[in-house]
Amino acid sequence: MYDYLIVGAGLFGAVTARELTDSGKKVLVIDRRDHIAGNVYTEKTEGINVHKYGAHIFHTNDRAVWEYVNRFAVFNRFTNSPVANYKGELYSLPFNMYTFNRMWGVVTPEEARAKIEEQKKEITHEPENLEEQAISLVGRDIYEKLIKGYTEKQWGRDCKELPAFIIKRLPVRFTYDNNYFNALYQGIPVGGYTKLVENMLSGIEVELGSDYLENKAQYDKKAEKIIYTGAIDAFFDYSLGNLEYRSVRFENELLDIPNYQGNAAVNYTDRETPWTRIIEHKWFEFGKDEQGNDLQKTVISREYSSEWHPGDEPYYPVNDEKNSALYKRYKELADKEKKVIFGGRLGEYKYYDMDQVIAKALEVIN
Ligand code: UDP
Repeated sequence: MYDYLIVGAGLFGAVTARELTDSGKKVLVIDRRDHIAGNVYTEKTEGINVHKYGAHIFHTNDRAVWEYVNRFAVFNRFTNSPVANYKGELYSLPFNMYTFNRMWGVVTPEEARAKIEEQKKEITHEPENLEEQAISLVGRDIYEKLIKGYTEKQWGRDCKELPAFIIKRLPVRFTYDNNYFNALYQGIPVGGYTKLVENMLSGIEVELGSDYLENKAQYDKKAEKIIYTGAIDAFFDYSLGNLEYRSVRFENELLDIPNYQGNAAVNYTDRETPWTRIIEHKWFEFGKDEQGNDLQKTVISREYSSEWHPGDEPYYPVNDEKNSALYKRYKELADKEKKVIFGGRLGEYKYYDMDQVIAKALEVIN
């Protein structure tokens, strides 16, 4: 008999497993995939740590979380500075003085503010959706070229139907600063995320290729408590209906050239290009192997966003009104499951970043 059965070997599962084990509990972690680390999983190809389920850049303002992850890995000094490609015009992200200069030729922060002030006049009330929020933050020109197409590809929904908070994830700055995140601490774990999670799970029993929901009754007998990090609607056998998710498909290519796009991330912000972005993984670690040698080849991933269907991997919860209301009803069911703790992006149906998942995991078991 275990004290805890932890379903899912991603960040929420690994952090709770570590903490519970360290406080003397007997823990079993299972995952239906054949590898640990959930969607932060990285796999080495030609010396390059490939982010198999999409790019993950660790960033946080929470010093306790930063110190926590640094117990399990050394973090490099990578700073995310994605580039937006709109029909061959290249813009700096997030929205900052370089972006404004390229868009309007303005040079000073005052000129940039004046442009945005003039363009945001069309929004006369409190923004109620992503489109209105975006225009009131950066004006219509930037909305049309850098936000609208990308967002509609990523979410498969009109910007008027999406919640405003999604675009508030991105900073708007009147300085020449291409750092995508407003975070005190940022970096990529040297050696990859898989290694980081492996270190978290060190000495803990892990069973891979095991599907909890397929053998729920049996697994429930094995432990006093369950920590469940899978999709909350799947736990309840979709009894109230499906929550919607976005899924992502990657086309990975190994190229026999040293440098494909000169940056880790390039976003394709027009509507016509079918992929949302291309990741060139070697640049997360400055194009070098662990010995500091330049890598001669490169791996790129084109990222295609799609609606989730049963059997696909869910990546992003769709936090629009309809789904938020349905989630609330599932949450009521979850609260009645006294033996089960629901956590993580899928367990709580929240657009969490990695640091928020870790903070929540630490909070839940302490
Ligand atoms: N976004 C955009 N243009 C970009 C990058 C992002 O309009 O070039 C918007 C888009 O709506 C996206 C949101 O900002 O869903 C959040 O982007 P973020 O990079 O945080 O998404 P993630 O890395 O989690 O996929």
